[in-house]
Amino acid sequence: MKLATVELENISKVYADGTPAVDRVSLSIRDHEFVVLVGPSGCGKTTTLRMIAGLEAISSGTLKINGRVVNDVAPKDRDIAMVFQNYALYPHMNVYKNMAFSLEMRRKELGLSRAMIDQRVKETAKSLGLTDVLARKPKALSGGQRQRVALGRAIVRNPQAFLFDEPLSNLDAKLRVETRAEIKRLHLKLRTTTIYVTHDQEEAMTMGDRIVVMKDGVIQQCDSPLEVYQNPANQFVASFVGMPPMNLITGQVGQHDEFILGEQKLTLPGKLAGAARAQGGQNLVLGIRPEQISPKVEERFAGSGNVIRGVVQVIEPLGDRVDVRFRVDERLTMICRTETHRATGIAPGDSITFHIAMAQCHLFEDSPAGENIVRKWNSKEQRADMTAKSLSE
Ligand code: ATP
Repeated sequence: MKLATVELENISKVYADGTPAVDRVSLSIRDHEFVVLVGPSGCGKTTTLRMIAGLEAISSGTLKINGRVVNDVAPKDRDIAMVFQNYALYPHMNVYKNMAFSLEMRRKELGLSRAMIDQRVKETAKSLGLTDVLARKPKALSGGQRQRVALGRAIVRNPQAFLFDEPLSNLDAKLRVETRAEIKRLHLKLRTTTIYVTHDQEEAMTMGDRIVVMKDGVIQQCDSPLEVYQNPANQFVASFVGMPPMNLITGQVGQHDEFILGEQKLTLPGKLAGAARAQGGQNLVLGIRPEQISPKVEERFAGSGNVIRGVVQVIEPLGDRVDVRFRVDERLTMICRTETHRATGIAPGDSITFHIAMAQCHLFEDSPAGENIVRKWNSKEQRADMTAKSLSE
């Protein structure tokens, strides 16, 4: 098994026509890690991956693989295998030949005998369930099988790292979920450092050891999927990760730590109230995940500080769960996701109360950066603690 660390230090890309695609990206990928770059179309994830592969020149910054600067190293000498969305198998070659091709081409250079190549191709085909189709041409394969051949072609090379660029986009929903599990299983077995690009937040969450959320060529957050979900760095990350997206509500914080939404008020719990006070009396944005809202609270709890009233607009059944869209006032519509049985008897037009798990909510600045203020104050406190500690030592 090969070891590979990949380090991006302040990497930027400006295309020849002046388009700034990637802006000072720094990222340290550990050996064996599975890192997912995720973000909306045009955020620079493919460009970042292509720079790592050597298919795109780096405008500024340093790229290191295993500590060695590779900015000017040719793609074939980086010992990296890339799998694309359009995997372009050779149509005139059968599966076996497609998988063996890159090794055959460099057989002498790699010091491989024909028997060694044969063994690698057959072993890889077996692990991908392709043994029975080795003699077939790509046109006689299903989409999922073709994608597995593309994977196999990368795996037989036993590279230092795998780069995946939206490899599942051409597959239907069921096959995507299956192949995603397959890739994860392979990673657990091979443990090759992997960098995976997708615009699909669910794919990112389920596959990555860490996920890197990008927007406009800039990293917004790089953390474990759970941390990104539970502690998003800013409004963009909060609304990008999680489906349906987090409810983001602009309002003001009153004298008694209450978040004022028009006529109604919610009481901020300690950690949010403290950060709001530290932030001063500006407008803030309260973030509530749909699953932190439950419908039909007994009336006697109204006014308890974590209940709001709304008029149900649409009910969307999902089987075990249901999404309820409701209007709080003319400027604010929210969405709640709850277990189906909790929403029985609710109909569009009903005015009902909703409970909000305030302790699980987030507060963001009402600014373009939209930073998570609790995170911001925690890190400030941590820095202050560290400074105090180092001064006292
Ligand atoms: P997608 O998911 O749509 O592939 P992405 O996040 O991978 O998007 P990139 O393909 O990296 O984004 O593109 C980042 C930016 O660079 C976009 O504004 C894009 O239009 C621009 N861009 C990409 N390739 C070129 C090019 N060859 N010349 C000029 N601009 C480019």
